[in-house]
Amino acid sequence: KQRVLFFTEGNAGMKTLLGGKGANLAEMTKAGLPVPPGFTVTTEVCRAYLAGGHQLPEGLMDEVAAAMTGIEELKGQGFGRPDAPLLVSVRSGSVTSMPGMMDTILNLGLNDETVAGLAAMTGNPRFAYDCYRRLLQMFGNVVFEIEHYHFERELLLLKKEQGCEEDSELSAERVEELCRAYQRVIKKKAGVSFPQGVFDQLHMAIEAVFRSWNNPRAVVYRKLNRIPDHQGTAVNIQSMVFGNLGEDSGTGVLFTRNPSTGEKVLYGEYLMNAQGEDVVAGIRTPQGIAGLAGEQPQLYLQIDEVAQKLERHYRDMQDIEFTIENGKLYILQTRSGKRTAQAAVKIAADLVEEGVISKAEALERIEVSHLDQLLHRSIDEGQPLNVLASGLPASPGAATGQAVFDADTAEEWARAGRQVLLVRAETTPEDIHGVLAATGVLTTRGGMTSHAAVVARGMGKPCVCGCEALRIGEGSFTIGGTQVNEGDWVSIDGATGRVILGKLVLKEPEISPELSTLLGWADGIRRLKVLTNADTPEDAAKARELGAEGIGLCRTEHMFMSADRVPVVQEMILAEDEAARRTALGKLLPMQQGDFEGIFRSMAGLPVTVRLLDPPLHEFLPSLEHLIVQQARLSCDASSDRAEREKVDTLLRKVRGLHEMNPMLGTRGCRLGILFEEIYEMQVEALFRAALICRAEGVEVLPELMIPLVGHANELKRMRELVDRTAARVLGERLPEVPYRVGTMIEVPRAAITAGQIARHADFFSFGTNDLTQMTFGYSRDDAEGKFLTHYVEHKLLPENPFQVLDEEGVGELILWAVDKGRAVKPALKTGVCGEHGGDKDSIFFCHGAGLDYVSCSPYRVPLARIAAAQAVI
Ligand code: ADP
Ligand code: MG
Ligand code: MG
Repeated sequence: KQRVLFFTEGNAGMKTLLGGKGANLAEMTKAGLPVPPGFTVTTEVCRAYLAGGHQLPEGLMDEVAAAMTGIEELKGQGFGRPDAPLLVSVRSGSVTSMPGMMDTILNLGLNDETVAGLAAMTGNPRFAYDCYRRLLQMFGNVVFEIEHYHFERELLLLKKEQGCEEDSELSAERVEELCRAYQRVIKKKAGVSFPQGVFDQLHMAIEAVFRSWNNPRAVVYRKLNRIPDHQGTAVNIQSMVFGNLGEDSGTGVLFTRNPSTGEKVLYGEYLMNAQGEDVVAGIRTPQGIAGLAGEQPQLYLQIDEVAQKLERHYRDMQDIEFTIENGKLYILQTRSGKRTAQAAVKIAADLVEEGVISKAEALERIEVSHLDQLLHRSIDEGQPLNVLASGLPASPGAATGQAVFDADTAEEWARAGRQVLLVRAETTPEDIHGVLAATGVLTTRGGMTSHAAVVARGMGKPCVCGCEALRIGEGSFTIGGTQVNEGDWVSIDGATGRVILGKLVLKEPEISPELSTLLGWADGIRRLKVLTNADTPEDAAKARELGAEGIGLCRTEHMFMSADRVPVVQEMILAEDEAARRTALGKLLPMQQGDFEGIFRSMAGLPVTVRLLDPPLHEFLPSLEHLIVQQARLSCDASSDRAEREKVDTLLRKVRGLHEMNPMLGTRGCRLGILFEEIYEMQVEALFRAALICRAEGVEVLPELMIPLVGHANELKRMRELVDRTAARVLGERLPEVPYRVGTMIEVPRAAITAGQIARHADFFSFGTNDLTQMTFGYSRDDAEGKFLTHYVEHKLLPENPFQVLDEEGVGELILWAVDKGRAVKPALKTGVCGEHGGDKDSIFFCHGAGLDYVSCSPYRVPLARIAAAQAVI
C-alpha cells in the first residue's frame, strides 16, 4: 500500500486518502496548471501515527527521503545542499476542508548554512533571511508550540531600536540578527536548539502536522461541523515558490465569484512582496484583486484565465491560493469556496443558467441548514443611525449586541442569555467558541479572507472586519472621539461594513429572486407537502408568503394566553359547576372565533389543522408559590379586604386541586376534552361559526380538527362524536359547505402501536414528534436538555439530541409502524409530522422515505423544508 504519492499520481477523487488539498493539488497537476512539484503523505499514515503512540510507521521517512530525491531532480536543487538549497512547505490537508484549523510550515530546509547559500543563489540576502526568520517562527510555533508573540516581540523591539515602521525597512543584516534572536527564543522556550539537520526538520514537521489534527481549535471546529474525528490529516510536502522576492512577487487568495453575494466577478486579495500566511493571517491588510487589473494587467489576465479554467474543471465556485514569483503565477491550492447562503443560492441558480450544472444538482448543492441565514436580518434604515466607522463587509446580515472583547466572556455572557457582539483586533482559530456565542463579529485588522471572515460566513454570523479606525484598549474601544465600553450596545451591518453605536431595531428578511427560482424548481421535484405551524393570522400570512401549503398545526392554547384573555380563562377554570363554566366559555367563544376567522382568511383555499386545547389547565393559573406568598401577605395585613382574601383562598384551593406530580403526563390533551366536554365544544363551535362567516365572504375554508394526546381508540371515538355533533348543530343544513376532517396526533407510544384501531376514527395522523420523542425515550424534554442529555450527546451515548434530529431507530420505527397499520385500515389516511423535526433536514429525509404526506414547520423554516423535501427525492 502506497504511503507517499507524488502529485502526479493522485486525483480529485482521492480525498479520503490524500486529503482535500493533496487531492486537488494532484488534480491540478494533471490538468497542467502551474503547481510547484511535491508529494503527499496519506491520511492513513496519520491515523497510524496517532493510534501508534505518536510514532511514525517503520520506514516511512525512507520513503519520504526517496520522494524528496524526486523533487530535487525536477528542481535541480538539493535538500540541505548549501550551494542550491531546495526549500519545501509542509502543509496539513484534511479530508473535509477546515480552513486555518491546522498547521503549515514554510521554507523548510533552511539552516545557518543553506540560508547563506540561498542568499548567494538569489543574490538577495534580505530575502533569504526573511525566509529563515519565517521558518524559525513557524517551526517554533507549530513544532514547539511557542506562542507567536514571543517572536513578534523581538521583531517589534528591533523595529523600535531601528526607528522603522514597516518590516520591509529592515536591512538584510538586521533580519539576520532577528534570526539569531528567534533561535534564542526557541532555545529558551523549547529547551532545545532549532534543528540544523534538514531531515530532522522534516521529520519533526510531519509529526507536528499530524498532531495538529487534535489541537483544541481543530477539535472544536470538527464538532461544530460534524466532521468525524477519525479521518486524520494528510501532509503535503511541496517545493517552495517565493512571493517575497521583491516587488514583482506576491501572494494572494482568490474566489472565482463573490463569496458573499455570489456575483460573478473575481474576488480576492493580494499582497506584493509577501509570503503565504501574510494574507490570511490578517497581519497586513491586503489589496483588492481588482487593483491588480490596473497595476499589472498581464498578471491579472493570467490569474483570470486560471480562475475560469478551474471553475469549469470543478463545475463550482473555487477558492484559490496563488503566489507570484518574479512575475510568474503558481497555484498552491484550490477547493470549492465557502460561501454565504445568499451566494450559494445565487451561484447555484447562475450555474444552471450558464448550462454548467442541472437543476437537480443546483438543489443538491444547497446546504439547507444555512438557508436560515438567507432569511437574514437587516438594519431598519428608518431609525437614527449613529455610524461610527466603516470596515469591510465580510459576512452579511445585521447584528446588535453588547460589546465584549474576548471569546470566553462572549461565551459566558451568551450563556447567561445576553446578546453579545465580539470585538477583536483579529480573530484567531482559538476564538471560535466566542464567534459561535456572539450575534456578530467586528475586527480591526484583516481582510475579507481573514480567519474571522471565513469562519463567520461559514456560521452565517454577520461580520465586519478590517475596521482600522477602531482602537481597542483595556475593556473598551474608541472610534474617533467615541469610547465604547464592555457591555455597551453596538451594531454592525455585515452587508455594508457599517459599525453603529447603540442597540438597533432589525428588519426581518425577504426572499431573493434566485432563491425564488430555486424554490420553484424544488416545488416541481418534491413529493412531500410543506405546511406550517402558525397560531395567528399574521404568522399564517407570513408562512403562506414563504410557500406554506396550509397550516399543519395551530395551537389554540396560544390564543388564550394574551393578557386580556387570561382572566376569562381563569374564570372558566375556577368555575364551581358546569353552568358557571359555560358562562365563562361563552365569553371566550367570540374571541376564539375571531382568531379562527383571521386564520381562515390568511389560508383561504388551504387546509387549516386546528389542535384542540392541549396543555394542563394550571398553566393558565398563578403558581402555587406565588399564591402562598400572597395569602401570607394578606393575612398579616389587617387592612386587607375580605373579598380579596377569599378570592386568593379559592384560587389556592383550586390550584392545589389541579396540582399534578407529572403535569406532562397528567390531565391534558384529549383528557381535558373528555372530562370537560364543554371546553372542546366551545372551541369546535367557534371554529365552525368562523367557517360560516368566511364562507359567506366567499373564502374557501378547509378545517381539519386535531385531537391531541390520544392513546386509546376510545378516546378518539368519543371526541370525534363530539366534533360531528357540534358541527351538525352549528352548521345545520349548511353542513356540506364546510368539508372538514377529524384526525389525531400520534404522540403517545400506545397510539402508534394501536394505530390500526385508532385509524378507524381518524381522517389523518399528525405525528407530534416532540411528545412522541419525550414519551418514547421517557425523557422529560424540559428537564433533559440542560442535564443528562447534553452529557449523553457529548459522550456519544446518543448520536444526536433526539429532540433536534429524529431518532430513526426508535421513534422512527414507531412512525413507520403506525403509518403501515393506519393505511392498512384506511388507505386514504393522510399522515405528517408537526414537531420541531418538521424543519430539520435529516428528519425531512426520513419523512420522505417513510412515505408521509407532509411536514409542518415554523414559518421561517418553510423555504428550507421545501428544498430539503426536493433533495430527498434527488
Ligand atoms: P491553510 O490550510 O492554513 O490554508 P496552507 O497549507 O494552504 O495552509 O498554506 C498556507 C499558505 O502558505 C498558502 O496559502 C500559501 O500562500 C503558502 N504556501 C504553502 N505552500 C507553499 C509553497 N510551496 N510555496 C509558496 N507558498 C506556499
Ligand atoms: Mg490554504
Ligand atoms: Mg404534544
